[in-house]
Amino acid sequence: MGRDSQVEEVTIQKKPPESEVSDVMGGSARWEVKIHDHGLVALLDVMPRFVPVGKTADFAIVQAARVSYGEGTKQVNEDRGLIRYLSRHRHTTPFEMVEFKFHHVMPIFVARQWIRHRTANVNEYSARYSVVKDRFYRPSMEGVRQQSKTNRQGGDELADVSTAEEFLRYLEETERAQYAGYEKALEGGVSRELARMGLPLSVYTEWYWKIDLHNLFHFLSLRMDPHAQQEIRDYANAMFALIQPIIPIAAEAFLDYNLHSIRLSRLEIEALRTGQPLVTDNKREQAEWEEKKKRLDIK
Ligand SMILES: Cc1cc2nc3c(=O)[nH]c(=O)nc-3n(C[C@H](O)[C@H](O)[C@H](O)COP(=O)(O)OP(=O)(O)OC[C@H]3O[C@@H](n4cnc5c(N)ncnc54)[C@H](O)[C@@H]3O)c2cc1C
Repeated sequence: MGRDSQVEEVTIQKKPPESEVSDVMGGSARWEVKIHDHGLVALLDVMPRFVPVGKTADFAIVQAARVSYGEGTKQVNEDRGLIRYLSRHRHTTPFEMVEFKFHHVMPIFVARQWIRHRTANVNEYSARYSVVKDRFYRPSMEGVRQQSKTNRQGGDELADVSTAEEFLRYLEETERAQYAGYEKALEGGVSRELARMGLPLSVYTEWYWKIDLHNLFHFLSLRMDPHAQQEIRDYANAMFALIQPIIPIAAEAFLDYNLHSIRLSRLEIEALRTGQPLVTDNKREQAEWEEKKKRLDIK
């Protein structure tokens, strides 16, 4: 045997837990939320999975922060205060000590938006290897939105009933025809990797998705936001609901200092300070300032 293939012996010390521990998922292997007609978000695992009895996974954030702050932490010695301080000051690495593994089932047009977030580890269903299932996303009547007149990227008010009905009929007919064509191509011996080309964006895919809490909060801040498309927001909201009981203190800080906070530009601070209009000729920026003033209840 060559020298390189030898592994040196290492002594592993397996220490008992410092205190009684509890499972942050309460002994469950899967927490699941159904989304739309065929979609789902399932939480499969968490790091840390076991925490001292009476603690939540927030514990891992505090533990990491105390390593970096050492004695200095004594000034902020309460867990909630420390996590809120870290969150306010964007000291983010302690949040990376918590990780979540999810199983998601979602339409491909949602997955395309989702996959732009590069900081997760992803393993997706292979439509080269397996046959794509006959599952399509179709919005409910109340989910058919008109093209927004103010936002070129979005929909807002509901479409009228006959337009919505016609659109849903169109989806159903094309999906049925496209799936029949897909099956026929497979039966004729066309490879799965090519036959899938005729399937629509509404067909479902699935993946395992693992991410740390810092990057998950970044994802959620963008995808729970009203500017994100409603369909991906439904997934993001479900993910937040699943993680909230596991890291309740960090989740509260996320809502307070991130999702529900308002960022002010230098020009906006100036307008606020002087009571003068915003100095800009950019209509979009002006409209955004009006929105912020409304939220702040400023005339
Ligand atoms: C409402 C909305 C509309 C959008 N519209 C469009 C659109 O029209 N067209 C389009 O193409 N995209 C669009 N996007 C996608 C958007 O531009 C981002 O790609 C997506 O939100 C991922 O954001 P991110 O890069 O911050 O996230 P992540 O990939 O999760 O990265 C997290 C952070 O890590 C850092 N990071 C990661 N990778 C790199 C890198 N390679 N280099 C430097 N820093 C890195 C950055 O700080 C980044 O913010 C839209 C997103 C939203 C929310």
